[in-house]
Amino acid sequence: MIRYDFSGKVALVTGSSRGIGAAILEQFARAGATCILHYWDDPNGSNRADAVAHAQKCSALGSTVHTYAADVRHTAEVNQLMAFIKEQVGGLDIVVNNAGILRDRTLRKMTEEDWDAVLDTNLDGVFRVCKASLDILRDQGRIVNIASIAGLFPFHGQANYAAAKAGVIALTKVLAKELARRKITVNAIAPGIVQTSMIGDIRPEMVAEYEKQIPIGRIGHPNDIAHVVLFLASEETEYLTGQVIPVTGGWF
Ligand code: NAP
Repeated sequence: MIRYDFSGKVALVTGSSRGIGAAILEQFARAGATCILHYWDDPNGSNRADAVAHAQKCSALGSTVHTYAADVRHTAEVNQLMAFIKEQVGGLDIVVNNAGILRDRTLRKMTEEDWDAVLDTNLDGVFRVCKASLDILRDQGRIVNIASIAGLFPFHGQANYAAAKAGVIALTKVLAKELARRKITVNAIAPGIVQTSMIGDIRPEMVAEYEKQIPIGRIGHPNDIAHVVLFLASEETEYLTGQVIPVTGGWF
């Protein structure tokens, strides 16, 4: 296993209390980064419990972990998140845009609310976090956006999700050009199917069907994505920018 050393670096991972984001944060903690665990504080408070538990787990690995709740659908909350980071740790070296939702329906059944919710979180949220981070992201920093294979090869019933993820890929390519003079790299990862609560609603027989089509023979684990994030965030990848890397077990 490659052992990265991110000591002295500050990494923000949006939506890092569970799923892929939690795995990414944990890997940064193992590699010595100061971690910003970001989550969304839902009205019944269940996300906060997950966030606190995951922050404790990552702190136990010897890393400093700061936890902050912000809804990526609200510019003011995203700006407050950046103010918190500046106040606590002075700035940022790595931003991972991971927060996202899924509301699959065929276009006939998709409501405008389904469309807006997914675009607002999955695309506009990435725009808000990138924009708000620019003042505190240090030169030679890294932005890694978690897109989806659906942004490259869209699936039935995912008009909102695929459009948002294709938008994230386009945003990644533009930002890579705009930030290159500051030696900040901007890349996207396009995961295939990864075992998290997001795919919890897919019937097991569908998962088995997908697994037959995936050359590696299994759906992904969150760490399959996390390891590629750390690679893209490392100092060694300073000449790699504006790219989208499918992490799909060879699918597509
Ligand atoms: P997940 O387990 O459902 O986690 C989603 C994360 O996004 C949660 O931490 C959630 O925060 C956060 N989030 C949702 N809405 C938010 C909002 N309005 N403001 C702030 N945070 C919000 O999903 P996952 O599978 O780990 O997905 C992570 C990313 O990978 C997403 O961008 C997803 O589109 C992408 N992806 C996933 C798959 C897959 O098969 N799982 C495949 C391709 C791409 P709380 O925990 O606080 O609710």
